[in-house]
Amino acid sequence: MIKFCTLSSGSSGNSVFVGNDRAKLLIDAGVTAKTIATELRAVGEDPAAIDYIFVTHEHIDHVRGLGVMSRKFGTRICANRRTWKAIGDSVGPIDPDRRLVLEDFPGEICAGDLSVSYFSISHDAADPVGYCVSDRRRKITVATDTGVISPEVKEYFKGSSAVLIESNHDLEMLKYGPYPPYLKARIRSDHGHLSNVACGELAAELALSGTKAIILGHLSTENNTPGVAYDTVRSTIESAGVRIVEHGDVVPPDFFNPDNASSLTVPASSPSVCLIVAPRYDHSKVILL
Ligand SMILES: [Zn+2]
Ligand SMILES: [Zn+2]
Repeated sequence: MIKFCTLSSGSSGNSVFVGNDRAKLLIDAGVTAKTIATELRAVGEDPAAIDYIFVTHEHIDHVRGLGVMSRKFGTRICANRRTWKAIGDSVGPIDPDRRLVLEDFPGEICAGDLSVSYFSISHDAADPVGYCVSDRRRKITVATDTGVISPEVKEYFKGSSAVLIESNHDLEMLKYGPYPPYLKARIRSDHGHLSNVACGELAAELALSGTKAIILGHLSTENNTPGVAYDTVRSTIESAGVRIVEHGDVVPPDFFNPDNASSLTVPASSPSVCLIVAPRYDHSKVILL
């Protein structure tokens, strides 16, 4: 069984947990190590048991707690060469034995019995990436901070049981909001952030093709609200003929098993998806698959 949740999401800091009994990973450590430890314990995980942190890119909202996590808990950190260079000494010293370089781009490495593949995304950073984590049976894909979803990136998303997609801004709120023109242009650009509408289009496509849980993340504080993001994506998914189903704090593995769909509130034959908005300062619902 794989467990998947966000620990924190948004411009104030991002961190994602993915793990099973034998391997435990974070994708990014963009809040303090103290917050990461608190949120991990809240979802029943020991921060000292995290084997690796995979870094998407060097922006502070993705690396803030990286150095302390590594020094305090001995966590190994994985990033590509250009991202390591861009991080520089901004997170303090990290033991060379705990610094791993992701080579052969795009590529795949084993982290315990999970495999992690990485691919380029479109963002204004040195060499930003998204990640797929798989136990060979199920795949989880995480890609935020990307101005567009290229056909190549969509291929990585396809076939995922669960995903984290950026739902950064509402186009109207951005247009009429307080940001200066250059910042609005940066956010809207191919190297900026993904809008709710663009997120909804990808979410609907994935839900139709069998993805069972979609977490919306990296919401803007100024140009979005959880309700606006959820409603925009929900209506696109429902227009595609997929039902949104609600779950409690934990999305159970039954939800992902078509042979054991008795706990579902919708017929197993009807395409259905669980849609979650990642909280900014708190962990999300826990997805078990
Ligand atoms: Zn960024
Ligand atoms: Zn970011």
